[in-house]
Amino acid sequence: MSTKLQGVLPRHKTRPVQVGKVTIGGDAPIVVQSMCDTDTRDVEATCEQIARLVDAGCDIVRLAVPDMEAAEAFAKIKKRSIVPLVADIHFNYKLALAALESGADKLRLNPGNIREPERVKQVVTAAKARGVPIRIGVNAGSIDRSRFPEPTPEALVDSALGHIRILEELDFMDYIVSLKAFDVPTAVAAYRLMAQERDCPLHIGITESGLPWAGTIRSATGLGTLLSMGLGDTMRISLVGDPVEEVKVCWEVLKSLNLRHKGFTLIACPSCGRCEIDLQGAAEEVHRRLQTLPQPDHEYKVAVMGCVVNGPGEAQEAEIGITGGDGLGLIFRKGKIVRKVKEEQMVDALMEELRQLSVENSFHEEVTPDILSLAGGKKS
Ligand code: SF4
Repeated sequence: MSTKLQGVLPRHKTRPVQVGKVTIGGDAPIVVQSMCDTDTRDVEATCEQIARLVDAGCDIVRLAVPDMEAAEAFAKIKKRSIVPLVADIHFNYKLALAALESGADKLRLNPGNIREPERVKQVVTAAKARGVPIRIGVNAGSIDRSRFPEPTPEALVDSALGHIRILEELDFMDYIVSLKAFDVPTAVAAYRLMAQERDCPLHIGITESGLPWAGTIRSATGLGTLLSMGLGDTMRISLVGDPVEEVKVCWEVLKSLNLRHKGFTLIACPSCGRCEIDLQGAAEEVHRRLQTLPQPDHEYKVAVMGCVVNGPGEAQEAEIGITGGDGLGLIFRKGKIVRKVKEEQMVDALMEELRQLSVENSFHEEVTPDILSLAGGKKS
């Protein structure tokens, strides 16, 4: 009898923790997070960035709260946000209390960094009263260098356990842990160790991963490895630049592992000597247009293939696609050719077909003017 091999291991069992309306851990879908890089005191800019993050598929957004002005602005932003907001606090217990007053749905805070036990107790009591969880965020900078000269996996877990014990002694179990390292094997080993110690949800990430190209590869390698092992209940990709890119990368990782499905996914063949169109130009243009559309609630694969001999067949799993063929652009749906146009019209024709598909399948809650105008149609 053959045994079915599993490409992704079953999810490590964690206890669910509630962050506003979003559940992290348990059987809940893996939650996508990002962090605004705006000045939190600039309410307009921060709200605008949160809206862009949400459009890209972000489930929870974190904001830095470096001073009291930011804590007060947090309350105004919170009123306008449709996703839960996390207050990122370092050291200052008064800021943690103010952020709770301002409606924070979660605190990112290392309780051991608030030295006086009485102050920690005040924060924990206030968080508990509001049902607000705390994420303990450990990284190489958090470890006790007198005991661990290097940021080893054991050092990261030891640091996390120090903070965890403070919360547990106060009977506070609503915590989530992250153990971020730049070094992927260190982060992977740290999360594996942590999973043996506690059943708290794990926030996974690779810290300081750098500029988008290298950082995306490093983060996808680390988070992909962890998720394949069944570890990770929420994730953040850390990249320099627009945080919307972090959300897009999260989704590509989740979709690559079949863990969550949402939005358009572009499939493109690598091209070869049989290619009959400007494949790169067509793929880039389709990608650009898809990025400007509202992302559907389910995953829709859109293919750009180089030749009619193999293209439609190779991209059978795509809902819709284009392929080159002897001076023509061919539109196919589920592997079947449905339309032939001139090559220079094929991207427009694809978007028109996509519009049709969106109406047929109502894959947006509402067919928005955006998708219609970009696809060249009119809302009827
Ligand atoms: S679809 Fe055609 S052009 Fe693209 S890689 Fe396959 S054979 Fe080559």
